[in-house]
Amino acid sequence: MYALVDGNNFYVSCERVFAPHLLGKPVVVLSSNDGACVARSEEAKALGVQMAQPWFQVRHLERSAGLIAVSANFELYAEMSARMMAVEARYAPRQEIYSIDESFLDFEGVRGDLVAIGRELRAAVWREVGLPTCVGIGPTKTLAKLANHIAKSAERKPGSYPAHLAQVCNVGAMHQHELDGHFAATDVSEVWGIGRKTSARLHDAGVHTVLDLLQADATTLRRQFSIVMEKTLRELRGTPCLSIDDAPAARQQILVSRSFGKAVTTMDGIIEAVSEFASRAAEKLRGQESVCGAIHVFFSTSPFRRNDRQHQAGVTIPLVRPTADTRMLVATAAATVHGQYRAGFNYAKAGVMLVDLQRADEACQGELDLAAPASDCAPAQGQGHDRARLMNAMDVLNRRFGRDAVRIGSARVASSREETRSWAIRQERRTPRSTTRWDEVPVVRC
Ligand SMILES: [Mg+2]
Repeated sequence: MYALVDGNNFYVSCERVFAPHLLGKPVVVLSSNDGACVARSEEAKALGVQMAQPWFQVRHLERSAGLIAVSANFELYAEMSARMMAVEARYAPRQEIYSIDESFLDFEGVRGDLVAIGRELRAAVWREVGLPTCVGIGPTKTLAKLANHIAKSAERKPGSYPAHLAQVCNVGAMHQHELDGHFAATDVSEVWGIGRKTSARLHDAGVHTVLDLLQADATTLRRQFSIVMEKTLRELRGTPCLSIDDAPAARQQILVSRSFGKAVTTMDGIIEAVSEFASRAAEKLRGQESVCGAIHVFFSTSPFRRNDRQHQAGVTIPLVRPTADTRMLVATAAATVHGQYRAGFNYAKAGVMLVDLQRADEACQGELDLAAPASDCAPAQGQGHDRARLMNAMDVLNRRFGRDAVRIGSARVASSREETRSWAIRQERRTPRSTTRWDEVPVVRC
């Protein structure tokens, strides 16, 4: 059995942990130079704000409806994500991190009432990290994802599904006729891996609900759609056949991570892994014609190896300008490992997540080409080691003496005054990076 644990309105929820006055208010998080809404609180959704809607279209709601907008603070979100994932990892022997706010837990070999375990997990994440989550459980990842949709909808839209399925839903424990009832109430577009285009084609063919899909002629579907559809159908019928590698990509970030078959103890080993993950993530990024504004690199020991000393490393590096250049991303990922690695630990997993995704064509508009050609960002063959050491030294200095204590010369020249950085990422409403910067830690007076 699998569980899919998903943070509710994740970016907004992270903001609320450190700004409780945002609770109960309509809040949106802006990304891509404050241009588009990439996360919405339930209250903002109720005002009609759409996902990825341009900010200028909803800006009037600030005055008329009290809508609050904050700039995306990916450094905060990635760190909160790492904390949330670490709590979730305690509840199953295997965890696959799927996106910034979603992870699959493999319950193989776990005994007991899985719904009770799910509730305990939710309570622990809430208590220890302050984030609300929903848990979907099922015999395949596709069903766990669907169960998560039911858990979330039952909580948000009373009446959509029975109230007792809110927050934690196990479809694996249901009788087929009960499950069919939920399938009949669920649009095919909610199925993992069925995108907008495919669901439009299915609707045209008279297939509207998940139940319709399961009752449709498999041979016809196979002919009209790809092999992925066949796998999806088998997964919906309860036969696991999706590995994390052929899982459909999440939309808002690109994440490539893996648990190591055998513990990795050397820095070179971790670098090798994250370099490969960064390359694969960059490929996916270019595949969807996007660039990313920041890269998050993480690696950690296993909480299940109780006798091992534990270490979790995770850092988000904002990029000077959005890129999809593999060399740039690999170099950044490797430099990050240099700065974070500690000897003497049995590392069990690592990953790379590209965040602040923007469409490549839009990201380049109005941007001065100040950053030198790619060779400036990425090490030429043979210079890689020096460059990595330089980056590492920079990171260490900047961590100790404050951000931008040391910068790349070309960046310094171009940005001698903050306001002249016309190409810099615009984040006018960014909240403090409360978990990663000493000078931005919240102050409590009592
Ligand atoms: Mg979520």
